[in-house]
Amino acid sequence: MLSLKSLRRINTAGLYRALPILVVVACCVSLTTGQSRPAADLMIRHAKIWTVDAAHPTAQAAAVLRGRIVAVGSDADVEAWRGPETQVIDADGKLVLPGFNDAHCHFVSGGQQLDAVDLNDATSPVEFAHRIAERAKLTAKGEWILAGNWDETKWTPGELPTKELIDPLTGSVPVFVSRYDGHMGLANSVALRFAGITAQTPDPPGGVIVRDARGNPTGALKDAAQDLMSKVIPPLSTEQRVHLAERALAHAASVGVTSCQNMDNGDNQTYSDLAAFSLLQEQGKLTMRLYVAPSIVDWKDQGKIGVRRAFGTSFLRIGALKGYADGSLGARTAYFFEPFVDTPGNHGLLSGQMQPPSAMRERMLRADAAGLQLCTHAIGDQGISMILDFYADIVKEHGAADRRFRIEHAQHMAAKDFDRFAKLGVIASMQPYHAIDDGRWAEGRIGHDRASRTYAFRSFLDHGVRLAFGSDWPVAPLNPMLGVYAAVTRATLDGKNPGGWFPEQKLTVAEAVEGYTMGSAYAEFQENEKGSISVGKLADMVIVGDDIFSIQPAKIRDVKVWKTFVGGKVVWDAKRPPASN
Ligand SMILES: [Zn+2]
Repeated sequence: MLSLKSLRRINTAGLYRALPILVVVACCVSLTTGQSRPAADLMIRHAKIWTVDAAHPTAQAAAVLRGRIVAVGSDADVEAWRGPETQVIDADGKLVLPGFNDAHCHFVSGGQQLDAVDLNDATSPVEFAHRIAERAKLTAKGEWILAGNWDETKWTPGELPTKELIDPLTGSVPVFVSRYDGHMGLANSVALRFAGITAQTPDPPGGVIVRDARGNPTGALKDAAQDLMSKVIPPLSTEQRVHLAERALAHAASVGVTSCQNMDNGDNQTYSDLAAFSLLQEQGKLTMRLYVAPSIVDWKDQGKIGVRRAFGTSFLRIGALKGYADGSLGARTAYFFEPFVDTPGNHGLLSGQMQPPSAMRERMLRADAAGLQLCTHAIGDQGISMILDFYADIVKEHGAADRRFRIEHAQHMAAKDFDRFAKLGVIASMQPYHAIDDGRWAEGRIGHDRASRTYAFRSFLDHGVRLAFGSDWPVAPLNPMLGVYAAVTRATLDGKNPGGWFPEQKLTVAEAVEGYTMGSAYAEFQENEKGSISVGKLADMVIVGDDIFSIQPAKIRDVKVWKTFVGGKVVWDAKRPPASN
């Protein structure tokens, strides 16, 4: 029933999955060859396929049956899968890649960002205030102005905004707009009043209420101080979350993201997001696969019902936990061994979850015993080092296991920590776009030596550490082409490092694509299900407008997605192939 050639290409897992289907379908389809064989639902031909499968790195064609890849090879090899009902797509010689798997995103916040006032490219405090004022005019009574992704480093001088800037323009509308890294927000006076924040309010552990010379709050709240505000912001309803997730799904499909690993963003609302995803799954509207990591603070919820790492369906899984070691470089709250060079004495801040560190250690040990996967945000070298200590303690106390510890961001490494990072099998879950963004000003904050081990992609690979790539959307754009471009060029957004910022840390296009596909699949225990275009795997693929392996690296950022397939179904179709660069 199956030719030897196709058998050779079917791995065991794929064969067992495919066989029952083949038995049913084979009797119904008879091809002109006289051979009886199931017909594919979808066939992509005349393509330049980069499979990310080391055994067969390139191919011309692929066939899909019932959501899975059943054949990969030359046009001739795959032709035998054609039947009268097969949807045949001529790729016109374009590049086909496995669907991108974003290992770190905040999906509903991303949808919210698509809907929100956009402050990210405001180039001055006046422009920033103007956009908020315009939004305030459209804001209904009782609603807040949120999100925004402002970035004061794009202004001159790059000073933090204050409530005085927006108070006269926002009237009775409460405002709490976020810095793009999520580690700071600016409130107006109305919002501060709602939250009860005054000159007398002490800084919470792990947070800072920024104050003026007289000790009055300026409206800027750093890290855990933002929780004072989250408590009074009305939570999104499930209906609103579904709407935002649908916006985000459409955007994801248009940029070729077929899987996303959704990380708690510190506001402990991940269960509510999960409810929205679950509803969408039930309605057959999830057009992208999600792995959801709620807050580690709530580890018992999953632990007590026996959910373990990577539990769920091919579209929606849980069993991971997101924790926080520290803040961010941008907010000067990443936790370092040595102080920031531009703010003497400031080593950054451990997160609220690390107050005290022993509480985090205990939580991690118990969560690991329950079989849950640990994904921990750590940015400063000391923050990373402390989490590696805890991970080492877990291995010591519970013995070796396939647990796939992750450090999210792994931004600024101590030279001494690369080896044990590898030895503990920790996955570096990184977002290459941050390198070209933070690279504009990182050296001014931490000096040359520490900057040389910042977003150290090459050093990680050289030490045998696995990379999983993502975006951290909406902190950075979701578009994976920007991530690949960033990893390959390290050309900072200000245009000051066209040859690459610490160019010795650049990756090849193949390595960057692998980080975004197999790397992120491994990071969620799904390397046998996705991450490459291989027989037996889920048929998640993208056709892109240009061959990113042969064009100039600087042009990769402009490459568009032509078609996106999830489980063999078209979820994005630009109709026409995008114009070449
Ligand atoms: Zn994040």
